[in-house]
Order: sequence, then structure tokens, then C-alpha cells
Amino acid sequence: MQLSIGRRADCVLVATSSRQGAGSSDLTSLRGVGPGLLRRLEKLDILKVEDLLFHLPMRYEDRTRVLPMGSLVPGKRAVIEGEIQLTEVSFRGRRMLLTSIADGTGSVTLRFFHFSRAQQEGLKRGRRLRCYGEIRAGRGGLEIVHPEYRLLKDDDAAQVEETLTPVYPATEGLQQARLRNLTDQALARLASDGVSEWLPAEVLARLKLPSLAEALAYVHRPPPDARLDLLEERRHPSQRRLAFEELLAHHLSLRRLRERMRKDAACPVSGHRHLLEKFTEALPFSLTAAQQRVVADIRADLAREHPMMRLVQGDVGSGKTVVAALAALAVVGSGGQVGIMAPTELLAEQHLKSFCQWLEPLGLNVVLLTGRLPAAARRTALSAIADGTADVVVGTHALFQESVAFANLALVIVDEQHRFGVHQRLALREKGRSGEVFPHQLVMTATPIPRTLAMTAYADLDVSIIDELPPGRTPVTTATIPESRRAELVARVQEACANGQQAYWVCPLIEESEVLEAQAAEEAYAMLEAALEGLRVGLVHGRMKPAERDLVMQAFKRGEVNLLVATTVIEVGVDVPNAALMVIENAERMGLAQLHQLRGRVGRGHAASSCVLIYRSPLSRAARHRLKVMRETNDGFVIAEEDLKLRGAGEVLGTRQTGIMQMRVADLVRDADLLGGIQEAARIIFRQYPAQVTPLVNRWIGQGSRYGRV
Ligand code: ADP
Ligand code: MG
Repeated sequence: MQLSIGRRADCVLVATSSRQGAGSSDLTSLRGVGPGLLRRLEKLDILKVEDLLFHLPMRYEDRTRVLPMGSLVPGKRAVIEGEIQLTEVSFRGRRMLLTSIADGTGSVTLRFFHFSRAQQEGLKRGRRLRCYGEIRAGRGGLEIVHPEYRLLKDDDAAQVEETLTPVYPATEGLQQARLRNLTDQALARLASDGVSEWLPAEVLARLKLPSLAEALAYVHRPPPDARLDLLEERRHPSQRRLAFEELLAHHLSLRRLRERMRKDAACPVSGHRHLLEKFTEALPFSLTAAQQRVVADIRADLAREHPMMRLVQGDVGSGKTVVAALAALAVVGSGGQVGIMAPTELLAEQHLKSFCQWLEPLGLNVVLLTGRLPAAARRTALSAIADGTADVVVGTHALFQESVAFANLALVIVDEQHRFGVHQRLALREKGRSGEVFPHQLVMTATPIPRTLAMTAYADLDVSIIDELPPGRTPVTTATIPESRRAELVARVQEACANGQQAYWVCPLIEESEVLEAQAAEEAYAMLEAALEGLRVGLVHGRMKPAERDLVMQAFKRGEVNLLVATTVIEVGVDVPNAALMVIENAERMGLAQLHQLRGRVGRGHAASSCVLIYRSPLSRAARHRLKVMRETNDGFVIAEEDLKLRGAGEVLGTRQTGIMQMRVADLVRDADLLGGIQEAARIIFRQYPAQVTPLVNRWIGQGSRYGRV
């Protein structure tokens, strides 16, 4: 195969000259494809004949054999064949047509809620019928609701299907039968013309998986003896072959994005040793070795003429904020502005305090910008951001609204990255762009992502890990107790607070309604306030005014409030080292990542801390497992692995909504064992076959700019 390559600004154009003529990739070259169908196919991202081959079945139906009615299992789909015993219209409840058929081994009732007179007349006693549908256990025996069916002629041995029947993702006005017909035609082309193989031979040899053409033919039309179970679980070698290629395509796409961004210009930042030393000397603690290492990584990045793109991973409490402050300081020292984006108002306000406390003594101006800022304060903030008097701007995503214009945004820091998608990160980059100069980026996350997953999901970022907690912390002990023993806990809180400790009481998560959640918190507050004599109890929830909430938080920080009753608003980032006990209600409703984050609020000081998870029975299996994991480990990485198994990659990475990691065959968790080979294959392709990157990416991800610039 010959490749002719033209480079045009942002994209590599690859023209293939294979045995296929130009016209044969055109969908209109297929039988029955007109303008209407073209539009519907386009909705499925099918733009050329080859795209049909990569539009893969979501499941299969076995219509390759007729099953005896005596062997049917409710819940499964099956083809059955028999003679009509009786057809009648029933008026029980609503009008419906009931036809019962039998084959000597058993009988099945077909139930139609919508039917025509002609249909009713066709279903005469004695006629033979073949039908397909989901078998259900009805009141009077097995039944199928609205089966697909066909009347058989006398001794018509109507053929069964020769392969398992694929069921494709469809769209309005585009039925399975049509999709099957089109893939049939595409498969015929595949058989005669082949398909471009973009994987290098050395990679294929190592994989020991079928060729692309074989794999495609198999997954579209599996033979009757195919392992349906493997296919449904997507573990069949043919699917793994495709999954490998798909994962590789995603990886290449992110890597390429990274390479391109690496070539962008940024303002190099270096020096300022004096300023940084002054800062660290003023801190009440010294940096851990891990923090120092990460700061060194960041300084090296900042000194280059290309934008830093670094992810800092560190478990809750590992001290990421101070690392961010050091990065900010270096940039401001060079005359740039820094924007820090936090996922919640509460966290933004807390960062504001830390940064003010650390940076204002050095003469820096730190400004807050959130959606809830009163209009006048907002105007003041906006003008300070625009004229450059604001050195550091702390905020929520409000920071990156259109009305916000920075004088010279040189570093963007995103805290708790998992709450923002790749798109938001890319949008931020654009915000700081001035001409061809881009801001540096620092992304911080407390969600430790398993390494292989991180390398695929964050292939566009460099990763530094703070793998050490500040000294003097004692691990948090975790217990789980049923709701019926809540009273014991009240006594325990009383005792802990009497000993000078502080505690959190986290109220149930009510995802549907912030109002209900606030109500539940108010009730818990009233109960605890009444039960705990001589203690000061505070309340914070999402419906309070920020100023009110702030007063309570401040009082809690100063130790004037003993027990803080809170909703999960305190989940992220809140830092009160003297708090050593945390009670979490209805813990069975929360996910592992959330529980781990919440628990991270204690164990920040020198006292031994504990966390008590209250649960309501009965527990689902998954909930039981989550609670067990929480009891057994404090290790964020172990918890992340478990979370990944329980929830799947899309949710762990928070990318489900953005659709970024939505794949056709591959699954980052199920196919995790393929990821190692993918790094390697990517290296080979980038080095030896760079021209194959674009066609491979386009094949799986499409030409759209799902990762920003393509
Ligand atoms: P996270 O990584 O969860 O964002 P924070 O930055 O909030 O953690 O830090 C948690 C607490 O640890 C804060 O009170 C912070 O001041 C403190 N801290 C950070 N680094 C150190 C250190 N090297 N030694 C002692 N305490 C530290
Ligand atoms: Mg933090």
C-alpha cells in the first residue's frame, strides 16, 4: 500500500491508494442507499463503507436453531415453531389477541396488544408458525409478547439463520434488517477487497489474535457454534483484537494531542529561588520528600518554552495545596497570573484562605471569583483580573466564563480533576491563550487512578505522584455499625468532644434533592443538639448562604464548635486537623471514592482518628463489599482499584457524561490486560509508522474533534 501524505496546519492528510477505487468507499455505491438513508447513517457516524464494518453489534440473537417448547427458559430469546391450537380475542383488562401454539413438547401463548383484522384471520387453528421473541413466564404458562413471526406453508422447511443474528446500535428510521443488509454488503466488499491493516506486523505477531479482516467478519456474523457467552461478555478473541485496536486508537489520539500541545509556546518561568525560599521558610512545617520531588518536576516544566501539562496525584491529605501555591508563586514572580479552579464554592473559599495566608505576606494579591459573588464584588474582581492587579485568582468554574478576561493568565491549576472532564481542561487552556502562547497547566487529583488506566485516560498529561503523607499522621480506624446502634455513637461523640477532640457528623446523601438533603441535615442537627449536653454543635449544608456557612466553618476551625453536622458538601478538601472522629450516616448509599474523600477529613492531626460508617439494612452485595473495603484499607490506590471494578472506568474518571471514554468494543477495566501492549504498540507506530496514526484514529474515533483539536 502506498501512502501519500500532505501536512496542513493542524492535520495530517492521508490518501490511501489501495485496491479499492475511490467510488467503492462511497456509501451510495451500496444497493439501496439514497439521500434519506445517508442522513440516518450519518447520525451513527457511518460516513463510508468501511465505517459499517466498525459499527459493531451490541448483542446477538441465536436464530440458528428452532428450540423445542419443552426446553424453553423464561428470560431467554428463542426461535420456536408449532401448530396453532387456538386464536381468540380476549377482553380481560384490555383488548388483546391470544394465539396458542404447540409442538408436541409443550405450548406457548403469543400475546398481541396491537393487531389487525387480517393478522387475526391469518392466525387460524391448524396453521404452522415460526416465531422469535423473549420467552416469559405468564400466568397460564410460557408466552411471548409481540413475537416476530412468520406463517409457514405446508411442509415449508423455512431456513433458519446460518449465523448468529447481530443486533446493532440503531437510530430512528433505521431498522435492524436494513443495517444487517448494509453490513452484508460491506462484508462482501471486505471479502473481496480486504481492509487496511494499520497495526504493524511485529505488533500483530505478538498479540496472537486474529487478523482484522477475520475479526470483523466473525463479530458481524458469528457461526452457529460460536461461544455466545464469550461474545456477550466481549471476551472473544475477535472482539479482543478489535478492542486492542480501539484502545490503541484512543491512546494514540491523546498522545498526539499531547505531542501537539507540547509544541505550543508558553512563557518560560524560572528563577525566583529567593521568593520560594522565603515562602517555605515561613511555613509551619517542612515539605515532605514527595512534595519536594513534585515541586522540582513542576519547576522543571515551567522553565521550558512549552506549556507544562502535569497531573499531580496525591491521596487525600498528602498536601497538594502547598505544592500548588509554590507553582503559583513561581509564575507570579515572573509577572504572570494564576487561575485556580476548584469544584465547589466551599473548597474555593478554603483555597482562598490558604493562599491569602501564604501569599499575601509576600505582597501578592489573591482574588476570589465564584458564581455566588455579589454583583459589586464580582465587578471589582473582574476588573482586577482584567488589569492584572489580581495575581492569583481562586474560583469555581465561574472563572472560565466568557465575561472573565485575564490580563496575562500564565498558569491554570485545576484541583480535584476527576470532577472536570477533559473538555473543560481544554477549554481552560483556550482561556489563557494569547495568540500562539498557551498557559501552563497543573491538574491535581486525590483520586488515585490505577497506573495503566491513568496512562490511557490521561495520556496527554505527565504524571507526578505525592506518595507520602506528612509525618505524624496515624491511620484512621474504620468501623461499620447498623443504624439501630446510633445511640451508642451519640455517647461516643460526647466522650470524644469532652476530651477536647472535634468531630464530623455527615448526613445522608440525597442525590435527588438538595432541599431534602438540607432538611435531613437540619433534623440530625436538632437531634444531636438536644442529645449532646454542653457541646457546641454546628451545621453546614448546601442550601445555606456562603457567609453563614463560612461563620460556622470558621468557628469549627477555631475549635469553638465541637461537632460539625454536615452534608457531603464537606467531602472535598476541608481541612481541620483537630477533628479526629467522623460519623457517616447511610454510608451504604455512597460510593467508595466519596467515602474515602469524606474519611480523608479526619486523620489530619496527631491524634488517632476514627471513622464510623452507619448503614441501613438490608445491604446490597455491592454495598456490603464497599463497607468491607473501607474497613480494611486506608490506601487510596487499593480503594480506587476496587472502585474501578465496581463502577467501571467511565464513572471513576468522571467521563461518562462527556462521552470521552465511550468505546465500541473495548472496556478499560475488562481489557486492562491489553493496556500494557498498547503503550508498546503506540511507541512502535509513532516511531516507525507515523503516517498510520491518523487513519487508525479516524477509523475508531471519527474525524470529529472529540479531544479538542484533532
Ligand atoms: P490535599 O492533598 O488533600 O489537598 P492539603 O493540601 O489540604 O491536602 O493538606 C492537608 C493538610 O496537611 C493541611 O493542613 C496542610 O497544611 C498540611 N500539610 C501539607 N504539607 C505538609 C507537610 N509537609 N507537613 C505537615 N503538614 C502538611
Ligand atoms: Mg486538596
